[in-house]
Amino acid sequence: MNEGILIVISGFSGAGKGTLVKELLRTYDNYALSISMTTRAPRAGETDGREYFFTSREVFEEKIAQNGLIEYAEYCGNYYGTPRDYVERQLADGKDVILEIEIQGMRKVRRMFPKMLPLFVTPPSAAELKQRLRGRGTESPEAIAGRLSAAVREAEGIGDYEYLVINDDLRDCVRRVHSLVQAAKQAPFRNEGFINRIGEELRILSKGE
Ligand code: 5GP
Repeated sequence: MNEGILIVISGFSGAGKGTLVKELLRTYDNYALSISMTTRAPRAGETDGREYFFTSREVFEEKIAQNGLIEYAEYCGNYYGTPRDYVERQLADGKDVILEIEIQGMRKVRRMFPKMLPLFVTPPSAAELKQRLRGRGTESPEAIAGRLSAAVREAEGIGDYEYLVINDDLRDCVRRVHSLVQAAKQAPFRNEGFINRIGEELRILSKGE
């Protein structure tokens, strides 16, 4: 069986990544979503083990020490990290594994998995982003201001991603992301195994003729 690919989806907080990813998982069956560990407090409506594994700084730091995370970063004063076991198991199982993480994490993952596919999701405008953050209704004005100033820095890193995904219409956006993943999986640098095999087969065949 072919190994799956690792897909990193980043984007401003409030860009609609969560909804997009949920819809992607519901629509297609080749994806698996990695659930991160965080020291941030759960928002209203979030459940431990569904959106995140919510934990203390002590437990998080233990996990780092045990090399149990593929990557981790601090964002707006909290730790966020990707548990290693689940990702490695799903990839070996042929699933395309989605990490919904920020840019520092993406850069670390890219060093370890150079074939991963980094996508950046953004709303069509800054005004729309602010509107969505307010509309979520789960955060204080200070937290929203913090997210917006983080977005200014994040916008400077968009050039590091392979594709930009403008999240205007959800269903259309889901289809676009799926097409990008299918196309990316056919890039030669992600198919070294196939290229080596067919090269070898051709050498044998040409000698035998
Ligand atoms: P939020 O608090 O809004 O759920 O997430 C804040 C930011 O942390 C988002 O940009 C989200 O993508 C990112 N994030 C979530 N999980 C991880 C993770 O495991 N690692 C890293 N590096 N970033 C994460």
